Amino acid sequence: MLKDFKPLKTYFIENRIALIIGLTSLLFVDTLQLFIPRIIKKAIDSLTIGQASSVLLIKYALLIVGMAITMAIFRYIWRYFVFGHSRRVEKALRNRIYKHLQTLSISFYWRTKTGDLMARAVNDIDAVRMASGMGLVALTDGFVLGLATIGFMLYINIKLTLISLIPTPFIFYFTLIITRKMGREFKQVQQTFSELTESVREAFAGIRVIKAYNRQAWGYSRVKEKGETYISNNLDLARTLAIFFPMMTLFTNLGLAVVIWIGGRLTILGNITTGDFVAFISYLNLLTWPMMALGWVTNLIQRGSTSMRRINDILDEVPQITNKITNPFRGVIRGKVCLKGLTFYYPEEKVPALKDIDLRTEAGQTVAIVGPVGSGKSTLLQIIPRLVETERNMVQIDEIPIHDIDLKKLRASIGFVTQETQLFSDTIFNNIIFGREGVGEDLMKNILDVSQLAVDINSFPKGIHSLLGERGITLSGGQRQRLTIARALVSNPPILILDDALSQVDTRTEATVLNRILEMRQGKTNIIVSHRLSTIRRADIIYVLKDGRLVEKGDHTNLLEARSEYARLYERQQLSEELGGE
Ligand code: ADP
Ligand code: MG
Repeated sequence: MLKDFKPLKTYFIENRIALIIGLTSLLFVDTLQLFIPRIIKKAIDSLTIGQASSVLLIKYALLIVGMAITMAIFRYIWRYFVFGHSRRVEKALRNRIYKHLQTLSISFYWRTKTGDLMARAVNDIDAVRMASGMGLVALTDGFVLGLATIGFMLYINIKLTLISLIPTPFIFYFTLIITRKMGREFKQVQQTFSELTESVREAFAGIRVIKAYNRQAWGYSRVKEKGETYISNNLDLARTLAIFFPMMTLFTNLGLAVVIWIGGRLTILGNITTGDFVAFISYLNLLTWPMMALGWVTNLIQRGSTSMRRINDILDEVPQITNKITNPFRGVIRGKVCLKGLTFYYPEEKVPALKDIDLRTEAGQTVAIVGPVGSGKSTLLQIIPRLVETERNMVQIDEIPIHDIDLKKLRASIGFVTQETQLFSDTIFNNIIFGREGVGEDLMKNILDVSQLAVDINSFPKGIHSLLGERGITLSGGQRQRLTIARALVSNPPILILDDALSQVDTRTEATVLNRILEMRQGKTNIIVSHRLSTIRRADIIYVLKDGRLVEKGDHTNLLEARSEYARLYERQQLSEELGGE
């Protein structure tokens, strides 16, 4: 169980000074606590033998007040340092998970639910924080304070101590069973929390569809159902906890009954003093916390290790696409793209999404890829910047296998515009520059011009610095698409990939944007997927994909003359464009 916590080792070492100060203060408070019953004993004994003077009693009282104040101060100190340490562990772990998640390949996200990742990043980290803060405290108190208290009890009377400790084995056994049950129930709670988070996320993401179809009740019932399971799982856990603590107190009270009965007799017989008798009861009370702490620590560590295992599952996930290149290409990328016998299977699929594709563009050419939905166009485009992994040598840029090009360099050389227009809750300007620095005003003006965004932006109150997203303006589908194109143009990459990137822009604007792009990018490579033949016919070479295979290749005129697949697509498309079908 403890080996699950191994990734935390470095943080414990980093925080060692805080930990030493914290735990020393904790032990100091524990020690002081152990001496209070000793003072009570002295006071009572001096009273019973009639030696107590008011000066002596004031002295004892002041001593206790002094100890109470010191304990309060040192309690503050250990809480500050130990809990501060656990918060730092939490922060470091969260950053590490996020950083690691960013290295993982797209294929990891195909098989992992967002809600599940969120549960791990929130709930599981919290359980680890509890284990590495409170768990540490409970462990120290359970063992050190527990054993020391028993020591002080033995010092008073061995027989009485042994008898009063009879309930302890039951406490341990009971704790063991209950915490195991809690562990199982806790796992269930975490699992249903993942599902709940995912269904809430879906309900918000899909709110437009849900409303449009009047399916609010259906959407509500999905979330409600998951919420109910979550509550009922939590109640199971609460019920177990509800048995646990009262049973603990019951056991300690049984010990108290024994002490009063047998300890009282020992006092009458004069084996122990009245002060010892009272002090013994104080120790027995003091023992309640360490015993519960031992029970709790098992629970905390169990929860923590369950969570840590779920976190380790992520941390152990190896990026499928790595950047381990022994002899990276150092030259300038010109933009000659070459696919050779490219075959690609999605994980666990029996039919290849792409089969034996041979495609090449010279640097500076514009290539169009056409084909019906599901023919593999998007898959092919994602392969070029190595967003999905292929075998070595199947994809080359400037005759160099992409596996030999540094990933950062490769991706920096490719402007990639997908069908999904991902914008962030930030200004238009920041969405375009996307973290790049030193984007000059002239360049920005040119890009806005090329993507035909200038007019749109002028109509916004704050122009290019208007906020997008929840509390900002909402762009139309076409505006979003043109913005993502602008983002790709900022770095003026040698290769530009447009995956149906202008589908929501009207035909005339699309033609203008495309003209401007081709004009701006003379001598650079463009790979364009589009459904509009008016766009495609401008390409130097057209490739036709069907069911993952290249079926035709040529320029517009050649392909039309061949009365081919392309010709059929063309006629259909032309008809729909004439009818104004967008
Ligand atoms: P296109 O862009 O031409 O419409 P895609 O490249 O998106 O086609 O898809 C090609 C084929 O690959 C389709 O049959 C699609 O169902 C399949 N596919 C796409 N993404 C995945 C995925 N993540 N896992 C499994 N199959 C996928
Ligand atoms: Mg597609």
